[in-house]
Amino acid sequence: MAAPSEPVEFSGHCYCGAVQFTLILHAPATFSGFCHCEDCQRAHASPMYQFAYIDASAFTLLAGQDSVKSYVRDETKAPELRRWFCTHCGSRVYNTLLPTLEGKVRSHIGVFPSLLTDRTAGQHALLKPRYHLHSKEATVPLECVHDRLPRR
Ligand SMILES: [Zn+2]
Ligand SMILES: [Zn+2]
Repeated sequence: MAAPSEPVEFSGHCYCGAVQFTLILHAPATFSGFCHCEDCQRAHASPMYQFAYIDASAFTLLAGQDSVKSYVRDETKAPELRRWFCTHCGSRVYNTLLPTLEGKVRSHIGVFPSLLTDRTAGQHALLKPRYHLHSKEATVPLECVHDRLPRR
């Protein structure tokens, strides 16, 4: 794992390329894994997806600032989950989680390793999945997944 003084940089983009971003990571993601919840299945039109929540300061939108829009289903929930997408191609680009996570005031961004240019980034020590979340809602046969990650 990289020392804090040696940040690791990843770049990524949406399906059409209008939205481009970079991640400069000084530490492992706060929270990373695969989510199987029904909300994420519907939002991503996918039976599961990989996420990594990182400090918002590690994320920079390089292009497409005018091409992203967000959607919040329930503004009364805390932390508020806001899902951002590209208005041209519809790709999900990131999630923001404000203003609290685990009771602390801080701002996190959820990124999706599938969007990164480095196709192995999702298994990098700083981003790799550490859990399967909402396994009970899984629609993929998890008994066929042998990654030994904890299932919640
Ligand atoms: Zn796009
Ligand atoms: Zn989910």
